[in-house]
Order: sequence, then C-alpha cells, then structure tokens
Amino acid sequence: MFGKMKEYLSEELGKLHEQKLYKHERIIESPQGAEIIVKGKKVLNFCANNYLGLSSHADLIKAAHEEIDDRGYGLSSVRFICGTQDIHKVLEKKVSEFLGTEDTILFSSCFDANGAVFEPLLQENDAIITDALNHASIIDGIRLCKAQRWIYSHGNMSNEIGLDPSTDKELKGLEKCLIEANEKGCRFKMIATDGCFSMDGDIAKLDEIVALAEKYDALVMVDDSHSSGFMGKTGRGTHEFRGVMGKIDIITTTFGKALGGASGGCISGRKEIIDWMRNKARPYLFSNTVPPSTVGATIKVMDLLTASTELRDKLERNTMKFRNEMTAAGFDIIPGVHPIVAIMFGKYPDCSKLAVDFANKMLEDGIYVIAFSFPVVPRGMDRIRVQLSAGHSTENVSFAVEKFTKVGKELGMIK
Ligand SMILES: *Cc1c(COP(=O)(O)O)cnc(C)c1O
Repeated sequence: MFGKMKEYLSEELGKLHEQKLYKHERIIESPQGAEIIVKGKKVLNFCANNYLGLSSHADLIKAAHEEIDDRGYGLSSVRFICGTQDIHKVLEKKVSEFLGTEDTILFSSCFDANGAVFEPLLQENDAIITDALNHASIIDGIRLCKAQRWIYSHGNMSNEIGLDPSTDKELKGLEKCLIEANEKGCRFKMIATDGCFSMDGDIAKLDEIVALAEKYDALVMVDDSHSSGFMGKTGRGTHEFRGVMGKIDIITTTFGKALGGASGGCISGRKEIIDWMRNKARPYLFSNTVPPSTVGATIKVMDLLTASTELRDKLERNTMKFRNEMTAAGFDIIPGVHPIVAIMFGKYPDCSKLAVDFANKMLEDGIYVIAFSFPVVPRGMDRIRVQLSAGHSTENVSFAVEKFTKVGKELGMIK
C-alpha cells in the first residue's frame, strides 16, 4: 500500500537534496556546552540556545539525580488523574514568582503550551492579532482555534498598511488590525507576539503593544522562549526589559533554552486564565507533563536565577563584547542587545554560498556556527546567526571574533 507514497516521497526528498534544503543533523559526541565534540574534534559552540550555560551545569545534574531518587523516573499519568507531584506545584509557584505572574501551568514543551493556549479562550466571534514573524508553534496554536485572524507586519505598530519583507504581501500594522477587529464587533481581542524574534534577535515593543492593548481593550500574549532567564535587569524576560511586568496577560515560555535546556514549558499569567487551562487545555488533559528529573533541575534553575543575576550579567557582557568587536571589525550585524547576533551577508555577491562557505571555514577553525538562507530567512537576507552564552569565557568570545575576522578577510568581506 505504501508504493505510491514511497515513490512520491522519494521524489520530493530528492528535490530537497537538489535544492540544498535537506536537513542534515549534526552529531555531537559530548554533553552540550560552550565546548563540544563534533566528529571527534573539540569546537566552541556558538549556535545553541544554552544562553546561561546551564545545559550541563553540575548543580542541575545533581538536582535531576536527586529527584529521580526521590520521586522516580516517570508518572505514567496525565496531571489530573495521578500525574501531579508536590514538586510540580513547587515549580509552578517558583515560575510564577520569577515571571511576576499570578499562576503557572506546566506543559511538556512550549510547543504544547502554544498549542494549548488559544483554543480554550477564543471563539468565532473573537479576534487574534498576530505578528507576521511569530514562531511556528504560535501559528499552529492559532490554527487550532476558531477565532478570526489578523496578521500584522512584523513589529509594525501603526494603523497603516505595509509590505511584508518575506512575502512581499501587503500587511497591516497592529493598530489597524485592532481597529478592524473593533469594527467587526469582536468580543475578545488578543495580541500574540514572540518576546524576541529568533532570526534577527530583535525584541518586541511590548511597551507600545501594551499601550495599544489598553487603548483597544485587548489582551496580550507573549512567548518569551528566547528571553526568559536573561532579558531585563534581573532576567525575568522581555516584559521586564520593556518595563511592562504585571501587564502581560499570558506568558508562554520553554525550559528547553536558557532555563536548563532539557525540555518542558509553561503558560503563566492571570489566575483565571491558568485555572481555565487546567480544565480545558487539551495537551494538559491528554498528555503527560514534565518528568520529576526535569522538574527538579528546573526548580534549581529558578533558585539559581533568583539568588543572583551573575549568569545573565555575564551573558550581557559577552554579548556586548561580541557585538562591539564584530562591528569594529567591519561586519554587517543587526544592531541590538540580544545574545542572538545576525551577521548579514546580503551585500556581498553570491551571498548564500558565501555564508555556507564561511560557516564551514569557521568549523575548520574550531568555531561552530550555522548559516541560514531562504526559506528560513527572506531571500538576500542570508546570515550566520551567532548565539552567545554565559558558558563562554571572555577568551572564547575573543577567539570567535578573531576567527570571524580571519575568515572574513580570506573571503574578501572585510579589510
Ligand atoms: C523554541 C521555541 C518554542 C518551542 O519550545 P519547546 O519547549 O522546545 O517546544 C516555542 N516558541 C518559541 C518562540 C521558541 O523559540
């Protein structure tokens, strides 16, 4: 029975190979960290979401071991039957305190949290207004709910119409969408945005978004997966960075990036919304939650980050050092403050090939970075995306800049 599909898939897979779009997994033969082993060789890793260097942190490994010993390996149940332990409640409380929210509900991933969050809250007569560059899991979550949908051009707060750079389609600004949703008489309106957008490292203008939400009576949902733990003075996230803590109705985030790097996620926010999720969110009702080892380690993360800002401070120093030195070396980087640093290749001839060649040469020189081309980023916006970590030493960052400069000169990009 598989015959016809086999033929079809083989052909399509062949096309992906031809177009150089086939995804190859790179195999790491060591724990995750600033230094990893790839093909038997030690290299410095500059492309992980390991922002705080916690992925293989000794305290987390110990906490995970302890919780396996104390509370076992798994729960063999969803939360509301017999899958909730005391430690799940402890973690939910600590996450709420950290994010400055009223309550939190855990999910086995942020992808699940985003898949869960919209459908129970919004119906046909409601509006969801979403940034054009939002994460795939927000897009999927919105698809699962019946609300009317407005997509605003990335970061565009205006009440005008603009061009979307990736599709060249006309898209409205956020305020224009809110006005239209009001004119249609929508009952609830919800604005959904990533806190930080992972390709450019730009931060959502949450202060302006909150102001518009207040003006047009909308709720605000922020996915802070690329910011929880380090953005803002005490690392609470983009709501702290933009000065709107307590004003975001719903925050979703992952424990799979800065906050330990294993897995798990949550929805955090207004008490009644979280209560509703415990009764209606489908991935919560029909899927297991985070296992004890991960809960134990994530509780440890919350304790570490509440006790001291040392890690996020170090990440900030590494980020600014890298950004400043790369700019001084003559590279074209998207300005900002986030540890995602996009080094742009668009102004050079044959930029897609150049970016790939550049990344390959960097790996030969002991620096692991990745080139991104169409369709992951718009055509002509080819780039190498670097991600800094608190796990990097100052010397690691200097070494990376040195190698970028060397390869940049070899390839005729900088003088
Ligand atoms: C990584 C990411 C997710 C998915 O997180 P998981 O916990 O790995 O499922 C969701 N949203 C955003 C914005 C992300 O960057």
